[in-house]
Amino acid sequence: MNIAQHLERACLCFPDKPALIFEQTTYSYAELNQIANRVANGLAQLGITKGERVALLLPNIPQFIFAYLGIIKLGAIAVSLNTQLQSAEVSFILNDSQATAIVVTPELAGQVQTDQLSHLRQLLVASPEATPNSLAYLIEHANPEYQAQTMERDDPAAIVYSSGTTGFPKGVTLSHSNVISNMHAKNLYCDMRPEDRLLLCVPLFHCFGQNAILNSAINACATLVLHRSFNYEQIIQSIARDQVTMFFGVPTIYVLLLNKAEPAALSSIRYFFSGAAIMPVEIARRWHATFKSFIHEGYGLTETSPFAAYNHRFRYKFGSIGMPIDTVEMRIVDVDTGANLAAEQVGEIIVRGPNVMLGYWNNPTATEQAIRNGWFHTGDLGKYDAEGYFYIVDRLKDMINVAGIKVYPAEVEQVIYQLPAVAEVAVYGIADEVTGERVMAKVVIKSGHQLSEREIFALCRKQIASFKIPSSIEFVESIPKNATGKVLKRLLRNS
Ligand code: AMP
Repeated sequence: MNIAQHLERACLCFPDKPALIFEQTTYSYAELNQIANRVANGLAQLGITKGERVALLLPNIPQFIFAYLGIIKLGAIAVSLNTQLQSAEVSFILNDSQATAIVVTPELAGQVQTDQLSHLRQLLVASPEATPNSLAYLIEHANPEYQAQTMERDDPAAIVYSSGTTGFPKGVTLSHSNVISNMHAKNLYCDMRPEDRLLLCVPLFHCFGQNAILNSAINACATLVLHRSFNYEQIIQSIARDQVTMFFGVPTIYVLLLNKAEPAALSSIRYFFSGAAIMPVEIARRWHATFKSFIHEGYGLTETSPFAAYNHRFRYKFGSIGMPIDTVEMRIVDVDTGANLAAEQVGEIIVRGPNVMLGYWNNPTATEQAIRNGWFHTGDLGKYDAEGYFYIVDRLKDMINVAGIKVYPAEVEQVIYQLPAVAEVAVYGIADEVTGERVMAKVVIKSGHQLSEREIFALCRKQIASFKIPSSIEFVESIPKNATGKVLKRLLRNS
């Protein structure tokens, strides 16, 4: 099935039911389906065909969902971009995916350097006014009738850029069946129902928001309560006003709620879910003591659509990421030999199942490195207990997890190395009470040169998204390395 056929099914079963609530405007399933039809027809009129890449550079606003569903109906491939990316990062993704069209807000349009994009033919602005070249104009003028294309199992539905395990952006290509299998398995685990109202405040451009919440809500014929981001006051008001029953967040959001919210404010919510980063077990326990409900944790990667494991609704275990979801297998293997490890032994988590991506877009070498003998290598270190519950212990890959959004030191180091005065730089993460981790850098200046923190920050601000910029820079005499010259990041963290 095409993902959009789930929308058509929801529209058939519950035409008048709210599908989407955004800032007190409600769209029924019939309305949402009709808008998606119009977008599909409008894009087709612009010459966009099945398999073409259409990019979305949009915050969490209804237009993201309208455009995404229209693209999917047409059988084109939705390429979603992090809205904090700088123009060079945006150009890289648009060229790498060979996107022929993009939908972007007027505020973010400056990030799209059309002169550097050889494939781009159409730029649609997601402005409220229906001016020519706007998404609103396209929606207003296109035919409201459209039947979603029937797709093959392995037809790509979306490309979500992630730096995977090696540090440079790669297009994780997810098929319709990847996404559909993942939302089926997940909805089974959290028992999502048509009467549920899901609050979505994590980014829609990330696999967590896009598949685990948006597509899952449509699959369950539930109602999505969309927020631009996590704003405490607005979220608390919305939970009461919109009668939210399911809440999805990252650990940082739970820390903020725990520090501020009264139990009565969350009383309509029957299910809390956390993913994208490790949930400190003390937070999960304090949460349970305060709100008398569990935070169900899920684990996965963009490459696994995203979920591979889910903490069980019936047999919850504190600190665990649960068990592999339906039809997905997970193993713990020795990092050097690849041999299976027994309970309680720590090794790399590898995953096999219908949720594992088709591959990295146009990058067979990276795909072969990541998927070996049918098993996707996550770069995460974990273990399982005697009952088969899995735990995240550490990671093999050089990555910093800032409130669920990933930063790859190699990418930041490459930017700082452009300064001629830099002899050496090492970017690493340290613990942070609210965001889990934050980015730090140590820099060795070449002898006879001078360099200030200001110059480094100025360069970073020009070239990379703000969440990747080190929160502090320290100038040092040398950077600790092992005998083979590998930087010892663990030592950096502790020095
Ligand atoms: P992304 O592709 O952005 O979803 O990032 C995937 C990475 O997020 C994984 O490889 C893990 O390192 C981390 N991650 C996801 N879920 C969890 C979790 N429940 N606990 C700890 N780390 C997680």
